[in-house]
Amino acid sequence: MPNEQSYDENKPLDMHNLQFDLAAERLHLEPWIAEKIKHPRREFLVRFPLRYDDGRIELLHGYRVQHNTLRGPAKGGIRYHPRVDLDEVRALAGWMTWKCAIVDLPFGGAKGGVTCDPSRLSQTELERLTRRFIWEISPIIGPDQDIPAPDVNTNPQVMAWIVDTYSVFKGYTCNSVVTGKPLSIGGSLGRLKATSRGVLYTLQEAARLLHIHFASSTAVIQGFGNVGYHAAELLHEQGIRITAVSDLQGGIYNERGLDPAAVLHHVQKTGRVQDYPESENISNAELLELPCTFLIPAAIEGQITRKNAGRIRAKVIAEGANGPTTPPADRILDGLGIFVIPDVLANAGGVTVSYFEWVQNVQKLFWTETDVNQRLQQVMVRAFHEVYAISLQEKVNLRTAAYMLAIDRVAEAKRVRGIFP
Ligand code: GLU
Repeated sequence: MPNEQSYDENKPLDMHNLQFDLAAERLHLEPWIAEKIKHPRREFLVRFPLRYDDGRIELLHGYRVQHNTLRGPAKGGIRYHPRVDLDEVRALAGWMTWKCAIVDLPFGGAKGGVTCDPSRLSQTELERLTRRFIWEISPIIGPDQDIPAPDVNTNPQVMAWIVDTYSVFKGYTCNSVVTGKPLSIGGSLGRLKATSRGVLYTLQEAARLLHIHFASSTAVIQGFGNVGYHAAELLHEQGIRITAVSDLQGGIYNERGLDPAAVLHHVQKTGRVQDYPESENISNAELLELPCTFLIPAAIEGQITRKNAGRIRAKVIAEGANGPTTPPADRILDGLGIFVIPDVLANAGGVTVSYFEWVQNVQKLFWTETDVNQRLQQVMVRAFHEVYAISLQEKVNLRTAAYMLAIDRVAEAKRVRGIFP
């Protein structure tokens, strides 16, 4: 039995390793396979100078970790954030491996990041940073090797610079090197909202199981980026009352419900969600503890911890973010009977449509948005029920069940591939 005390819940890599150990011990894997697939396959660290618009030059650190490539090319986003370090990228890369295996994509897992504060960068600085970082990691990425995508603080424009930089490096246009691109250069319809749509589909399945009437539910959403905003929009379209949303600086609450599009308009004007008319300002900590049907953490890691888990009053949590709930918090939420749809399942819609984008690129085909969304729904619903069945059979929570499904698939790939030489 893994000893929780020897892991630090504030460290994403410790979270990842404990989540892995809790599931792996139940699978009775060959010890060498467990050891091999728990840790990253390759880790790439780059140091490069960034020239700011005012002429200053600073040395930045960037990372690309390929956690696993047993089931296909490494796959995962790139984030720009001040707290990015090698250990965080390792954890995020591992989560990608399990996520891709849960939804049964022919991909391994990877993640990249640059330690920086993008809120202080101009658009031209952001472009120079992106191009230089991609040039630095270009020897290890590629359409059959390792395929980046958006993550925290990166978006379709950043993906477009990645296509351009990589294509210049190769000498021909290569759009399948990255997903989450603008439509004009081979992006897929439905990709922008895919993560949030996947969250919606898993919530619909959970509501069915728990006999929750969907349209009269309420939702509280932490984070107002691509995932948080579109989750709010999609749930609002379903008639759900969005009673609170937040961004980095804090949140807003309105018992009668918020209109996500109007809040977005306010954010575009003022730079933050707070002080939105007809709402009460609240802190991010208060937001997480509001009574609601659905709580959607869609920001960053480590938000629901042993400190606040006991005060959560949601019926269902769907993790739009990666790693929002720590393992000690999981135990507390289990005790409270809260139904947690883990990140590796709940937010797998993003990488699923990334896979669809890559398939369209490789085949030089274009699918309709309806086609993309229907296929996404099929994938999410199937994965949800596979995970749920394991949780019943093994009497474990959905997170451990999801890891068991994923680890079993990746371990089997190692078993049949064998060892070189
Ligand atoms: N960054 C997203 C995630 O964490 C998407 C990754 C992808 O599409 O490759 O799942």
